Amino acid sequence: MLDDTIAAIATPLAEGGIGIVRISGPQAIDIAEKVFIPVSNSLWRKQKYKLVYGHVVDNRTGKIIDEVLLSNMPGPKSYTREDVVEINCHGGPVPLRKTLELILGAGARLAEPGEFSKRAFLNGRLDLTRAEAIIDIIRATTEDALQLAVSQLSGRLAQEVDAILNELLSVVVLVEAAIDFPEDEVEDYSPERINERLGKVSAKAQSLIDSAEMGKVYREGLRTVIIGKPNVGKSSLLNVLLREKRAIVTEVPGTTRDIIEEILNLGGVPVVLIDTAGIRKTGDAVEKIGVARSLESIDRADLVLMVVDASTELDSEDEEIIDLVKNKRGVLVLNKIDLEAGSAVKNKNQLTFKLPHWPMVEISALLEQGIKKLEQTVVELVTGGQVLPRDGVMVSNVRHRNQLVKAKEHLREAQEAINLGLTPELVVIDIRAAWEAVGEINGSVITEDIVDKIFADFCIGK
Ligand code: GDP
Repeated sequence: MLDDTIAAIATPLAEGGIGIVRISGPQAIDIAEKVFIPVSNSLWRKQKYKLVYGHVVDNRTGKIIDEVLLSNMPGPKSYTREDVVEINCHGGPVPLRKTLELILGAGARLAEPGEFSKRAFLNGRLDLTRAEAIIDIIRATTEDALQLAVSQLSGRLAQEVDAILNELLSVVVLVEAAIDFPEDEVEDYSPERINERLGKVSAKAQSLIDSAEMGKVYREGLRTVIIGKPNVGKSSLLNVLLREKRAIVTEVPGTTRDIIEEILNLGGVPVVLIDTAGIRKTGDAVEKIGVARSLESIDRADLVLMVVDASTELDSEDEEIIDLVKNKRGVLVLNKIDLEAGSAVKNKNQLTFKLPHWPMVEISALLEQGIKKLEQTVVELVTGGQVLPRDGVMVSNVRHRNQLVKAKEHLREAQEAINLGLTPELVVIDIRAAWEAVGEINGSVITEDIVDKIFADFCIGK
C-alpha cells in the first residue's frame, strides 16, 4: 500500500447538481473528519458504505462551506483498495475548490491525473487492460464503443491475455526443464510439440491483432474527411449528416486555429469528421484551405468521402482531387442526383475506372436522399460486413496491439530456432521475450515508466 493520501475533484468543474471530491489513502478518513461535521450521526466513521449527511466546515473560521453527503468506503472494498472517502458537494466550481483546498490543508496531496486508477492497478484490484478500459468508457462516443470498453472492463480481454501468458509460461517451464535435464528424461518435451504449441499461441495472438483495426475505429473514431471541388455540395452533405447523426462536438485547442471535430454516429461507428470548420468557413475543403492543408487532412484520414457533382461532367479539377485521394480508402459520393442531368449520372463509368475499389453512392444532399445508403456503405467498408462481436474479444488499444505484434515476432523467432534445431537454451530466450511482451499488456510484467505513461492519459480525479 502507498503511504500518502491523495485527493482531487472527481467530477467536471462546471455547474451541475452535484460534484464529488474524492480522497484515497491511509489517512482518508482522518482527513475527512477534519473538514466534515455530520448533522446528527457523530459515529459515521463506523458506518461503512452509507451516506452521511453533514457540512464541510472551515475549521479556522468555523464557516460552513457546503451542505454535503459523505460516503465512507474503507479498503479493500473500494475503487483503489485503500480507504476512500467521497464528498458529494453541490456541483459548482467554488464549493468544490474550497472543499478540496481544506482537504489538502488537512494533509492530503493533490492527485495526479489517473492516480486513483493507478493505485487500483498497483494494489491489484485491476489489471492494466481493465484500468485502460475505464478511460475508454469515459471517452466512448457511441453505444457500440461503450459496449466494447465495458466488455474489456469486465475482463474479457484480461482472460484471453491470461490464457496466453499461462500457456507461454508452461512452455517456458518445459523448455527450461529440458535445459536442466537430458531431453529424453523430460516427459512431454519434444521440439515438435513445443513448436506446435507456439504455433497455436501465435494464431491466437494474430486473431487479436486482426480485431485491432476495427477496435481502434470504435475506440478512437474513424477519421474522415469530406473532399471535393467547390460547389459540389460538401457543406450541404455535412449539414445533413450533422443534423441527423451528430453525436458530439469537440474543440481541439492548441492548434494554430481551433479545429472543430464533429463526431457522427454512423450505424454505431463513431466517425470523426476532420476539418469541418474549414468546410463551413469557406464552403470548400480543398481550394480555400490550401493544397498543403488539404493534403494533410487527407493524410490523417482513415476514410475519404469524395463528393462530385453528378449533374455535370467530370473536369480536371475533379481529376486532380482524385489523384490526391486514389490511394486512400474512400467512398465516392455522387451528389445532386435530383437534378435532371444528375439522374443520368453521367460520370459513373469514368469514376469506376479511376477509383475501381471505391464504392459509389448516389445522393441528393438537398432532398436528403441516399443518406441512409451512404451510412450503410461506410459501415460496411469499415467492418467488412462483420458486426461488432458482442461476446467476442476485441483489441481496441494500440498499445495492446503493438505488444501482441512484438510477441508474435518473438514466437516466430522461437519457432525458427526450433526448426533450425537450435538448443533449448536458445529457444527459450525468444519464448520468454514473447511472454514478457504479452505480460506488458495486463501489467504482470511492466516497468514503472510505462505505468506512469499509461495513467498520465487519464483525467484528474479518475
Ligand atoms: P460546397 O462548396 O461543396 O460546400 O457546396 P455547397 O454545399 O455549398 O453547395 C453548393 C450549391 O449546390 C448550393 O447552392 C447547394 O444548395 C447546391 N446543392 C448541394 N447539394 C445539392 C443537391 O443534392 N441537389 C441540388 N439540386 N443542389 C444541391
